[in-house]
Amino acid sequence: MPRMPPADAAPDAATAAKTAPQRSGPARALQSLGLTTPLALALHLPLRYEDETRLTPLSQAHPGETVQVEVTVRDARVEFRPRRQLVVRAADDGGETLVLRFVHFYPSHQKALQAGVRVRARGELRGGFFGREMIHPQFKAIEHGAPLAAELTPVYPSTAALPQSYLRKAVASGLQRANLAELLPPGIVPPGLPPLRQALELLHHPPPGAPLAALQDHSHPAWQRLKFEELLAQQLAQGQARRERGRHAAPMLVPRVGGLHEKLLATLPFALTRAQQRVSAEIAADLAAGRPMHRLLQGDVGAGKTVVAALAAAVAIDAGWQCALMAPTEILAEQHVAKLVQWLQPLGVKVAWLAGARRGKAREEALAQVASGDAALVVGTHAVIQHDVHFARLGLAVVDEQHRFGVAQRLALRHKLQDTESSLSAHLLMMSATPIPRTLAMSYFADLEVSTIDELPPGRTPIVTKLIADHRREELIGRIRDAVEAGQQVYWVCPLVEAVEDDGSPPEGKARGGKPLTELRNATETHAVLSAALPGHEVGLVHGRLKTAEKAAVMARFKSGEIAVLVATTVIEVGVDVPNASLMVVEHAERFGLAQLHQLRGRVGRGEVASVCVLMYSTPLSDSGKHRLKAMAETTDGFEIARRDLEIRGPGEFMGARQSGDALLRFADLAEDAPLLAQARRAAPMLLDRHPDAAQAQVLRWLGHQVDYLKA
Ligand code: ADP
Ligand code: MG
Repeated sequence: MPRMPPADAAPDAATAAKTAPQRSGPARALQSLGLTTPLALALHLPLRYEDETRLTPLSQAHPGETVQVEVTVRDARVEFRPRRQLVVRAADDGGETLVLRFVHFYPSHQKALQAGVRVRARGELRGGFFGREMIHPQFKAIEHGAPLAAELTPVYPSTAALPQSYLRKAVASGLQRANLAELLPPGIVPPGLPPLRQALELLHHPPPGAPLAALQDHSHPAWQRLKFEELLAQQLAQGQARRERGRHAAPMLVPRVGGLHEKLLATLPFALTRAQQRVSAEIAADLAAGRPMHRLLQGDVGAGKTVVAALAAAVAIDAGWQCALMAPTEILAEQHVAKLVQWLQPLGVKVAWLAGARRGKAREEALAQVASGDAALVVGTHAVIQHDVHFARLGLAVVDEQHRFGVAQRLALRHKLQDTESSLSAHLLMMSATPIPRTLAMSYFADLEVSTIDELPPGRTPIVTKLIADHRREELIGRIRDAVEAGQQVYWVCPLVEAVEDDGSPPEGKARGGKPLTELRNATETHAVLSAALPGHEVGLVHGRLKTAEKAAVMARFKSGEIAVLVATTVIEVGVDVPNASLMVVEHAERFGLAQLHQLRGRVGRGEVASVCVLMYSTPLSDSGKHRLKAMAETTDGFEIARRDLEIRGPGEFMGARQSGDALLRFADLAEDAPLLAQARRAAPMLLDRHPDAAQAQVLRWLGHQVDYLKA
């Protein structure tokens, strides 16, 4: 049966005239949805289905059900109570009556629904006061005995400019034209799943009686087939990237007896934890293998990743190679400089500093030192991977908080690793305090080796987390007074609403206009309030609009203990290390992401004193806000927090991939499809070994332009 127009979209002269100039609209809308190729159309799957294959006798239909009925109009009139509406009384062949009610209607409705007309109507049946009725059903006048639809009718994701009828035709035609030839050799696709073309035909045009529930919850074998295809393509892309890297040679870096590595170990004021020793050994094995390392070092906030990175750097530098260390913000980069300089400079290592704020002569000088190989250690923000930075002999790149770098930056880094004077590729060590959940590690990061520091250095006391509503601010300030009187130090973090992440610099540094200024004012006001409330103690203020040197000065005074309370916007988010700070207050905690809150909380609990993190929120809380705060109060385990973060936000957001504009998995769902993922993981290496052409075709069909990102 041809589609019935939605009742309230029935054209009359006026609306027809209005829509006439937009006749090219649907074609353009197709383009804006990216539906430009037969394959794209064939993969544009229905959101749901409407069953127009059956007629339900009114005597068998129940209120609340959406049904299609066939009735004859007995009487149609406009009534005015309780408001103007078109009321159509009708009955089916069994004599059961039904009222069709239209509050919005056009003259065309009245014309179509005259007494004696036979009508197919589809809508939700209600048991109204005056008997059965349907409000605004879809309807169509028909001849007696007109054939029913042979298949379920697909309803596609669409936009206002793209009518379903147009989209249906376009998809059906795309499905016919698309090349859906089987690419995979036998034995790869899990048994019981249909061929690709058959799967798609079923998904677009399910026969009457198809299991709607399984189609809708994506457990149907046709859906499973698509998911498997996609997961397999992703595994293949990652496998290709790994093999590509394996073809490159990298410097063989082995610690020397009596070398820098040994000297650094000897000067450290602490012994490495067992976990630190284990991951250091894993990294050392990679560095010595002659192939580029591609390793993620994960460990909770405060687990001691920096020293592990410093030891790797020492090995590279000792062997005559340069080491680049890149952090997402200047503050964090500086923290690294401070620590690494403090550790390595006394041992004779020359350090260059590159960051966005460095311009002119200082930058020229730094660039020259990098290009000549004079600087052995190069520290900075994304400025380190800009195109005018040339390394003489880059041997190792360390990226801190790697998940905070965008797609473009990760690609730039990948190029930089190969862009050295020597023909060897540099090693890459990524670090993150946000552990990758297992399913993500098996999918997006399948080509990554992972080392985990699963133990905190000794002597840390667990952090207690408290949630309080912001009307208890006065009480809280009292507690802060007690803490500073007792010689402790306090962070007070104010949020920023608008995040500008294009170059990784702290958001408010570049933001203009309303919101950020207001937020900055909040920080300034809080600073004033706290200063007044804590006579005799110094309250510092640090935010992204300060110059790098100014920020550094405030941080240094906090670190030395001169400043008792540090009011900060999120610039202190990562990497700041002040063991004497034992109270962290986060204002408007509901506005922060889970990972960010976890990072902030990790700023305290670094010393011997018992630490407290106060998450202050304002009501009303959104559902996800509630979930995040609850998660924070319930656990301090970074892995658990990452898992919940994934649950609340989904993998795309988790990886900061929003900016890439593509959902990374269209069909598969990592939470549900772990078994399929496992099958794809088993199949991929065999395909790459024995059918590399099929593997390549599979990657191109399913991932197209996303391939680069997946390999980054
Ligand atoms: P993160 O993993 O968050 O980067 P850091 O490397 O900043 O953690 O280390 C946190 C703090 O713990 C630093 O002050 C660091 O010097 C200290 N630290 C690291 N390893 C040890 C250890 N084995 N014993 C004691 N303190 C350590
Ligand atoms: Mg760190």
